Amino acid sequence: MSTDFTYDLTIHHAPDEGGHFLANGTLFGGCFAAETLMQPLQEIETAFFEAWQDEAFQQERLSLLKHYAGRATPLYHAKRLSKELGGAQIYLKREDLNHTGAHKLNNTIGQALLAHRMGKKKVIAETGAGQHGVATATVAALFGLQCDIYMGREDMRRQAPNVFRMKLLGANVIPVDSGTATLKDAVNEALRVWVANCEDTFYIFGTAAGPHPFPLMVRQFHTVIGQEARAQCLAQAGKLPDVAVACVGGGSNAIGLLHPLQDDDIRLVAVEAAGCGLETKQHAAALCKGKAGIIHGSLSYLLENDEGQVQPTHSISAGLDYPGVGPELAAMMESGRLDVDSATDDEALAAFQTLTQVEGIIPALESSHAIAAGMRIAASMNPEQIVLVNLSGRGDKDLGTVMDKLAEDAKEGDQ
Ligand SMILES: *Cc1c(COP(=O)(O)O)cnc(C)c1O
Repeated sequence: MSTDFTYDLTIHHAPDEGGHFLANGTLFGGCFAAETLMQPLQEIETAFFEAWQDEAFQQERLSLLKHYAGRATPLYHAKRLSKELGGAQIYLKREDLNHTGAHKLNNTIGQALLAHRMGKKKVIAETGAGQHGVATATVAALFGLQCDIYMGREDMRRQAPNVFRMKLLGANVIPVDSGTATLKDAVNEALRVWVANCEDTFYIFGTAAGPHPFPLMVRQFHTVIGQEARAQCLAQAGKLPDVAVACVGGGSNAIGLLHPLQDDDIRLVAVEAAGCGLETKQHAAALCKGKAGIIHGSLSYLLENDEGQVQPTHSISAGLDYPGVGPELAAMMESGRLDVDSATDDEALAAFQTLTQVEGIIPALESSHAIAAGMRIAASMNPEQIVLVNLSGRGDKDLGTVMDKLAEDAKEGDQ
C-alpha cells in the first residue's frame, strides 16, 4: 500500500547558471546547442524554475506519482539472494513496479506537466529501446497531447512490441534512417525537428543528459527514487546503506538514486554496459573508457573512434546502448565522489537468471547490470553491511532477447 511520502523539494547541488557541473577544473554540462535552440531552452529553464516553486504544480506532480505511477515504490530486502552470496544484505529499490515498468515515468510525468503548463499542444521525444517512447506516449495520452516519437529504423525493427505499444497509445512513430539508424540518430533528428517547431512543441528528453536545463530537470524529477530509498532503508534496516549501485545508460536512474545520497557516508557506484568486454570496442562504457567531449548539447564523457567520430556502441540491453553519459555523473566521477564499474552482457544475463530464480523477480537487462555489480560488491562485504541496488525496470520487455541469447549459448555449448 502506498502511503504519503514527504519529499524534499529544495534543489541541492544545483549547477551554475550556465548549467555547468564543475569538477577538477572542467565545466561539465552547459548548453552547446544551435543558436535557434537557445531561446526555447531558456524558456523551458524559466518555466521549470517557476513550476518547481509552484505548490500547485508540485501537488499535481506528486499526486500523479502516487495515484498514477504507484509511488512510493517499495524497498525490498532480498534475503535469499543475500544469504546465497554470504556477504552484505542486498536491498532492491523497486522502480520496476512503477506504471509502464520502469523509472522513466517519473521524468515524463514531470516534463508533460511542464509542457501542459507552457501551453504546448504537442510533445516529441527520441527513443532507443522504445521505453522512453512508451513513457512519453503514455503521458501524452494522459494529458491529451499530440505525440511524435523519433526512433531509428533499426531500433524499430528490434523493438517491434514497443512500436506497437506507442501506436496503441496514440503516438506517431517516425523512423529515422540517418547514421546507424539508432538512438543517437533519433536524438539528432528530434532536436532538428524541434528547432523548426518549438513554438507549439515541447521536447521531452529521455535521460539526464543533453543541453541545460535537461540534466538538472530530469535529475529533479528522478530524485524521488533516492529520497524514498534513503528513508525506507533507515526505517527498515535502522541505518543507511554502505553502498548504493545503479546502472547507467544516459544516467537518469543513477542520478535519481545517487544524488540524494551524495552528502552521506555512502559509497556510490555507477555500472556501465561492458558488452563483449571493455577490452573490445563492443561496449557502451562512456565513463570507464570514454573521453571528455561534446555530445547532444553538453560536455561530458563519450565514446569516439580514432577519427573523432562517435563510436557505435553495443550492449545486450538496448537501454544502455548510448555513447554518451549525463554531465553530472561525469563530474561526480571526475571529483572522486562516484566509483565506476561495469558488467558484461554475460554477467548481466547471469544476474538476470539469478534474481529470477532466487527471488522471483524478473529484472530488465539494464537493471541486471546493476544487480551483477551489486552481487559482486556484496559478496566481498560482511552480513551487517548493506548494498542498495536500483532495480530500474522489469524484464518482460527483454524475454525475446534472453530467449534468443540462451538458445545461442546452448547451441555453442553443444559443439
Ligand atoms: C532506459 C532505461 C535505463 C537507462 O537509462 P538511464 O537514463 O541511464 O536510467 C535503465 N534501466 C531501464 C529499465 C531503462 O528502461
